[in-house]
Amino acid sequence: MKKHDFSKLGYSTRILHAGHKVDPTTGSHTMPIYQTSTFVFEDADQGAARFSGTDPGYKYSRLGNPNTDALAEKIAALENAEAGLCFGSGMAAISTVMFHLVKTGDHVVAADALYGATFALFEKTLKNKYGVEIDWVDTSDVEKVKAAIKPNTRVIYLETPANPTMKMADIAAIAELTKGTEIKVVVDNTFMSPYFQRPIDLGAHVSIHSATKYIGGHGDVVGGIAVGYANIIKPLFADLKEIGPIMGPFDAFLLNRGVRTLALRMEKHNENALKVAEFLEGHPEVEAVYYPGLKSHPQYELAKKQMSGFGGTLSFEVKSFEKGKKLMNSVKLAHLAVSLGDVHTLIQHPASMTHAIMPKAEREASGVTDGLIRLSVGIEDVEDIIADLDQALRA
Ligand SMILES: *Cc1c(COP(=O)(O)O)cnc(C)c1O
Repeated sequence: MKKHDFSKLGYSTRILHAGHKVDPTTGSHTMPIYQTSTFVFEDADQGAARFSGTDPGYKYSRLGNPNTDALAEKIAALENAEAGLCFGSGMAAISTVMFHLVKTGDHVVAADALYGATFALFEKTLKNKYGVEIDWVDTSDVEKVKAAIKPNTRVIYLETPANPTMKMADIAAIAELTKGTEIKVVVDNTFMSPYFQRPIDLGAHVSIHSATKYIGGHGDVVGGIAVGYANIIKPLFADLKEIGPIMGPFDAFLLNRGVRTLALRMEKHNENALKVAEFLEGHPEVEAVYYPGLKSHPQYELAKKQMSGFGGTLSFEVKSFEKGKKLMNSVKLAHLAVSLGDVHTLIQHPASMTHAIMPKAEREASGVTDGLIRLSVGIEDVEDIIADLDQALRA
């Protein structure tokens, strides 16, 4: 087989071809699922060479498997990163990266709007249990990030755009602050997928995905991937080996299959979400819409600069808690479910669902108001999505 220089191919071509390997023994076009825990050595010398690293062959699936390696190689290529690693979930990727980069006494500048479980990991485990200092900062303001940096800062952790208000951080400007320092910029790129945003190109050191979302795209698998500079990702492999939160071969197979249509799906998610956002913005029952593709978004210019599209996820506000619940009970097409990035439209009401256990004052301070609705716009015909939301809002 001829080898291409992937960096010279178009992006949709790279999505298909990067990391794709034809099975060398059977010629199977699709990589077989290497559903095995261990790999047999021909003799003692080969076993020794595999463990010493002089022979790169496989040993044991916690230490590497062809299906996860192919997926990691593909996502790294799609983000122009030197290396990638797969994990059992997005949270497994985030926690292992953080355990690798920080220790007791180190300081982290963290975005004040983060995925709920990431917030809990930082606050409960890293800070309260392991003594890592965490400063929660409004990362939409570069000056505030700059002011928060201390001599012991090791990580600036961003999620952009972030739930619930789709607030963004200027990755390039923040990365610039870390030039000549030991500080690593880590970006949760789940909402945009590699298709619309490439944090490594913008100067970040590590980019993380909950592959559960747009990379898989079909809502049938939970997984995580971290990509970045080899001098971070290669040593991170030792932590993956010791902590053990690996992705299984079958999950990697499903993600490798799902990601092939990333370009088509992201274009459609984006096109539908923009139309839905515009519809909601003009709806009498809707108080506010948060979507980076709307001109009304306070950081619309930044969105156009650092992303090549606006994604498929948005949030909006209805008048009250009761109205939010009523909407949930009135949708007929949208699935009432958490998660995002699925080909199906998913809708949820954080105040009565994901954030119901939070005290109201704390919940509202983090931007999750009583009437906030999170919508992951699917790839159905947009007229059907709009009609469903319209009837449910008027119910
Ligand atoms: C879902 C999600 C995560 C967590 O990923 P899992 O695969 O569920 O562990 C992290 N960050 C963001 C932005 C997410 O949407």
